[in-house]
Amino acid sequence: MLSPPCKALRSQGYQFVAPDSSAAVKPCLWCKRSLRGGEKCYKHQFYGVESHRCVQMTPTLRCNHRCLFCWRSFEHEYPGERECTPDEIVGRIPDLQKRALSGYKVSPYVTAERFSEALTPKHVAISLSGEPTLYPHLPELIDLLTREGYSTFLVSNGTRPWVIRRCKPFQTYISLPAPDRDSYLRICRPEDDYWELIGESISLLGTRRSAIRITLVQGLNTFAPEKYAAILQDSGAHFVEVKGYMYLGYSRKRLGRENMPGHEEVRAFAGRIAGRCDYRITDENPGSRVVLLERNV
Ligand code: SF4
Repeated sequence: MLSPPCKALRSQGYQFVAPDSSAAVKPCLWCKRSLRGGEKCYKHQFYGVESHRCVQMTPTLRCNHRCLFCWRSFEHEYPGERECTPDEIVGRIPDLQKRALSGYKVSPYVTAERFSEALTPKHVAISLSGEPTLYPHLPELIDLLTREGYSTFLVSNGTRPWVIRRCKPFQTYISLPAPDRDSYLRICRPEDDYWELIGESISLLGTRRSAIRITLVQGLNTFAPEKYAAILQDSGAHFVEVKGYMYLGYSRKRLGRENMPGHEEVRAFAGRIAGRCDYRITDENPGSRVVLLERNV
């Protein structure tokens, strides 16, 4: 029987792998827009992801952070959930994606060709919600997805570097929520002080295709570009996404509209960071308030 938290999320479009687990699939706004022939997500622009063929999922909704800027709710715990096996999760993905998108088949904006492509997804973004490294079989799940022909993006808060080390996704994302420990503790309200561990995860990024995600929250972490630059310089990461916080979802209970930087503010701050390390601005998407930095080779 689905736990009460999952029931609440079910009404928001979450498709759960099993009634006693919080592993779930939920197509994002851009997947649906792209399916209807509209705009694609900025990861299509930056990395070539086919948005309408992308599965947004998570193996668990549990998280060890309570970030102020997170769109998701923390008001729900998932007591005693069962961990699905990688086979169970990967086996259910096509059905759940089909179920989530089935209503679009009749839309005049959805061509038969795009609809059939959407039902054979090519990309899995492990970024829906929760912290995926808390799922004990994550390395095996990613290996199985790769064997099944999916390209994978792993988005993690970096608090468990020993798991990141064993994961081999197409692209690894580590979130850098603040320029220093004190603001990290204030903004992410972690279960424990994981600042050193996040640093350790970031130090792994030079040996793989990788990106660091910086979510700028006006007035909370939009200072000390030199400190961000020093962390990026040592990281060796290929890409850095400097992205503006969006006043959406449950974050509106914790922050205000004034905490949302405009694209010009995001661009200016990204420029201040790039000016202090071996990265340069190579692309941007004003609609998603994101600026891409790439490491100078
Ligand atoms: S890559 Fe992310 S934003 Fe783009 S379609 Fe997939 S889940 Fe959505």
